[in-house]
Amino acid sequence: MKKKLLCFPLLLILALLSACGDEPERVQIIAMDTVMTFQTYGKAAEDALVDASAEVRRLDALLSRTDPESAVSRVNSAGGAPVEAGAELSELLETAAEYSRMSGGAFDITLAPVSSAWGFTTDSYRVPSQAELDALLAHVGMEHVHVSGDTVTLDGGTQIDLGAIAKGYAADRVLDLYREAGLERGWAALGGNVAALGCRPDGEPWEIGIQDPNRPDDGNAYAGLLYLEDACAVTSGSYQRYFEQDGRRYHHILDPATGAPADSGLLSVTVVADAEAGSGAMCDALSTALFVMGEEKALDFRRESGLDFELVLVTEDGRVVATAGLEGRFAPAEGSGYAYETVS
Ligand code: ADP
Ligand code: MG
Repeated sequence: MKKKLLCFPLLLILALLSACGDEPERVQIIAMDTVMTFQTYGKAAEDALVDASAEVRRLDALLSRTDPESAVSRVNSAGGAPVEAGAELSELLETAAEYSRMSGGAFDITLAPVSSAWGFTTDSYRVPSQAELDALLAHVGMEHVHVSGDTVTLDGGTQIDLGAIAKGYAADRVLDLYREAGLERGWAALGGNVAALGCRPDGEPWEIGIQDPNRPDDGNAYAGLLYLEDACAVTSGSYQRYFEQDGRRYHHILDPATGAPADSGLLSVTVVADAEAGSGAMCDALSTALFVMGEEKALDFRRESGLDFELVLVTEDGRVVATAGLEGRFAPAEGSGYAYETVS
């Protein structure tokens, strides 16, 4: 990045000016199969963005299920043998196991072979028979994942996919890097995962649009707006990846109870929490788990789990349900056509 700026003196001057003032520095990369944008402000911004991009690429290389060199692929291809997976992956697996336990199994990283059977890893989509799904489900469940120190062993037939938590974990790391660089403000958007540090330069909160799941191709169509400072917001939705066959839509968030796309009456779940250690990973894991659970169970879980987070649910029957703790931080999107409800 620096090299490029030196070749273009005008840009360099602009970059220097912006580093002193309120103008943002921004980079966009593609990693973890999604477009990511990182933005921050201040003297250390440019270096922090280089570091953030490198860190996310490092995590992609560690956690990718499709890169045969990744630690996750080494674990998946070990055929039941123990694999020295390293401290970071082992800890992330412990975290994933914890969210699986708390969610009563709705969050389950061992759905990997089931996801593959639907073609979601290769984009060659198909509808597997229930018999095929049932055979694969015999190997699904965190009891088939054994972590001992830095060593990971999977039971035969079990595979892992961290796609439902990796971007949130990466968002936590980007915010850590911003903080370590002494930056006061900025944000990182990793697909549907947003993490925001501080507030905007004008002292106002960051404005984050929740995509209207009924209009997924219109990037300016929102189901609601969030106004956040030092917070994470993660959306999981059935509109994010799907295929259609014989007039039916099949999406990528799977119900571990059936092996089929979760059919819970929700179109999207947005989880909001204060930005602190691990909260990006928490929001990511929970957005997937609560999508599987559906409205009623998701709201019960929020009240009973002891975890500190708020929710915005978009339902198939045209409602947007926001929890009361978002008061002053959530606003309806004008003209969206949704009916808005606040619940405890
Ligand atoms: P996205 O990756 O689109 O942001 P999610 O965070 O909800 O969305 O993760 C969905 C991905 O996680 C799927 O593509 C699949 O790899 C995996 N997955 C699907 N269902 C589950 C589940 N119930 N628990 C954990 N991971 C899941
Ligand atoms: Mg998720």
